[in-house]
Amino acid sequence: MKCKRCGKKAIAHLRAYGIALCEECYPEFYIRLVKRSIKRYGILKENERVLAAVSGGKDSSAMAAVLKELGYDFELLYIDLGIEEYSEESEKAVRDLSGLLDVSLNVLRLRDYGFTISDLRRKWRRKTCSGCGVAKRYIMNRFARENNFNVVATGHTVEDVVSFYLKNIAGGIKIWAEKLLPRNEPFDEKIVTRAKPMFEISERENMLFVLVRNIPFTPVECPYAPSPEWKEIVYDIERKKPGFTKNFIRGLLIEKGEFGEVNYCRICGEVASGDVCAFCKLRMRFEG
Ligand SMILES: [Zn+2]
Ligand SMILES: [Zn+2]
Repeated sequence: MKCKRCGKKAIAHLRAYGIALCEECYPEFYIRLVKRSIKRYGILKENERVLAAVSGGKDSSAMAAVLKELGYDFELLYIDLGIEEYSEESEKAVRDLSGLLDVSLNVLRLRDYGFTISDLRRKWRRKTCSGCGVAKRYIMNRFARENNFNVVATGHTVEDVVSFYLKNIAGGIKIWAEKLLPRNEPFDEKIVTRAKPMFEISERENMLFVLVRNIPFTPVECPYAPSPEWKEIVYDIERKKPGFTKNFIRGLLIEKGEFGEVNYCRICGEVASGDVCAFCKLRMRFEG
């Protein structure tokens, strides 16, 4: 197959767009794709100071590399969740990424707050990932606010958003609208804006980009990650109906829900849905 732009040997056939591209034309195409998406949805604004949350995986590494290409003012944040080899491998990748991009890296360790995800797993023997999400969101938000970042960017992909939606709909769960939006403006001054610059970008597109550009990442997945069933369903549909995932997400952009009254955690003072925030509840399990 030949590159549609220049006629050289193609390395990628993008069925969602009906084009094949070579290793030089692909990164250009990809960067323009992300740039257009960020602009179309106002995901990031000019002159914002961005904190890019990186995990060491291909998606957030690709995000950081594109933000650099596009000239954003940003720093990296890596949260060490204390998941043995996975965390070690991830941190190594993130350090390489920071070096390659010449962007500052901030490393925060969950154990400095009194526990790790491995501790949590031993204690609970279930749903570790909900604890992981709570911990990451808490640490990202607090660090961003205390260090004057305007927005926290995460590497969520189009498959993350669509599979999350399908899973919840199938389970009869009312969707938390915030998770489906490309950018969430804060509903309180203690909350920092959250953005998903890769909201319309697929995992495969990210993978091709990091491979072609030699961007550091680790293929090691979190051993406690939930079963990829819903992701696989999304991949299956995409295989049969190229373009499905991207079209689906465009149709999904729903009105932001109303938020209720804001409470603050009586222990740490962060925003909470009740008296004590979800993160402090986790932390309390390891006290005494
Ligand atoms: Zn080409
Ligand atoms: Zn708290």
